[in-house]
Amino acid sequence: MKVLVINAGSSSLKYQLMDPDSGEVLAKGLCERIGIDGKFTYKPQVEGKETLKAVDVAMPTHSEAIQAVLNALVDSKNGVIGSMKEIDAVGHRVVHGGEAFNQSVLITDEVMKAIEDCIPLAPLHNPANITGIRACEKVMPGVPMVGVFDTAFHQTMPAKAFTYALPYEYYTNDKVRRYGFHGTSHKYVSGRAAAMLGRPAEELKIITCHLGNGSSVTAVDGGKSMDTSMGFTPLAGLPMGTRSGDLDAGILQYLMNKYSLSIDDMLNILNKKSGVQGVSGVSSDFRDLEEAAKAGNQQAALAVEMFNYGVKKLIGAYAAAMGGVDAIVFTAGVGENSVGQRLEIASGLEFMGVKMDAEANNVRGKEVVISAPDSKVKVLLIPTDEELMIAKDTAALVK
Ligand code: ADP
Repeated sequence: MKVLVINAGSSSLKYQLMDPDSGEVLAKGLCERIGIDGKFTYKPQVEGKETLKAVDVAMPTHSEAIQAVLNALVDSKNGVIGSMKEIDAVGHRVVHGGEAFNQSVLITDEVMKAIEDCIPLAPLHNPANITGIRACEKVMPGVPMVGVFDTAFHQTMPAKAFTYALPYEYYTNDKVRRYGFHGTSHKYVSGRAAAMLGRPAEELKIITCHLGNGSSVTAVDGGKSMDTSMGFTPLAGLPMGTRSGDLDAGILQYLMNKYSLSIDDMLNILNKKSGVQGVSGVSSDFRDLEEAAKAGNQQAALAVEMFNYGVKKLIGAYAAAMGGVDAIVFTAGVGENSVGQRLEIASGLEFMGVKMDAEANNVRGKEVVISAPDSKVKVLLIPTDEELMIAKDTAALVK
């Protein structure tokens, strides 16, 4: 079986053609500057086929972008399939499924309507995802399509974890609640963790730390998300590359009054100028921060310390919330690559049975146990693979 995985943004579209059973990727790439001029990148993963890098292809809409992807996939010289008929299904990443979707679904007219109803909750992302789905419907009519939601995995959270302490009608009338994001990643790595430990997910309490440019931590009890650090939007929880994470809402009134900021100005600061970028004044990239800290930049060092401290506190909180923890998982850019940050986050957690193995931890980007053999809580490094999770969910629904 072959599944085309699509992640459509407003002016870009990432794609990957893969076998959901073996995980083999046949080709992947990116369409950029859709609606502007159009740049097409194609990376076949098959021996002897040539890569295309940011070549000019006119893409007035997402339809031309999808058409360019299909043309490349079936190209007689550099294609990886004989014809479009070999694509059994398309899996679409959809950011927000609100309370309508607690799992992936086959896309129907009714489902499209429900995704549209979620636009107010994700005004930047859902319209782009919808455009991607419509473009595929147009260019590949009749091919079954599946929607995979960033929020779906977290729909198992209990009300005590998802309700904000606001007047209750903001939930009932306006859908204001914690939704959580990165669900596809948290689901994937918690599933892999159970497989690595050789135990059924139903028996395990796992804390998954997705630490990248955007970061979130999730408590996964018995295979289900019980709490997560992102909220109504991805702005909540940890300080991130440029997002503030949690803060005292009173700060908004104070700063907006003092500097005559509009709410849009304020949110722009919280989303784009805060986080480790804001604190360090150096960069949103943890590699730059590590370097700057080494060279003696104290704000850069503070930004990284704050981030690590935030992750550590969430691990403690979620262990308490679940009444224990069997495994802690590190994933995404920082989680998979930063040897030092993983050590720093786990240090001081010996009281709850976490004992790292510094040597085992000295790795990047592969599935390994990085805790000591006698650590009561296993600490795992698991590279995330959201595309594979999307392909697997798609295959399961289409079969
Ligand atoms: P996104 O949320 O955009 O998908 P990623 O999961 O790719 O982000 O994470 C990107 C971040 O990972 C970068 O901003 C960088 O800070 C961090 N990162 C990547 N490699 C390393 C590394 N070797 N050491 C520390 N941080 C790293």
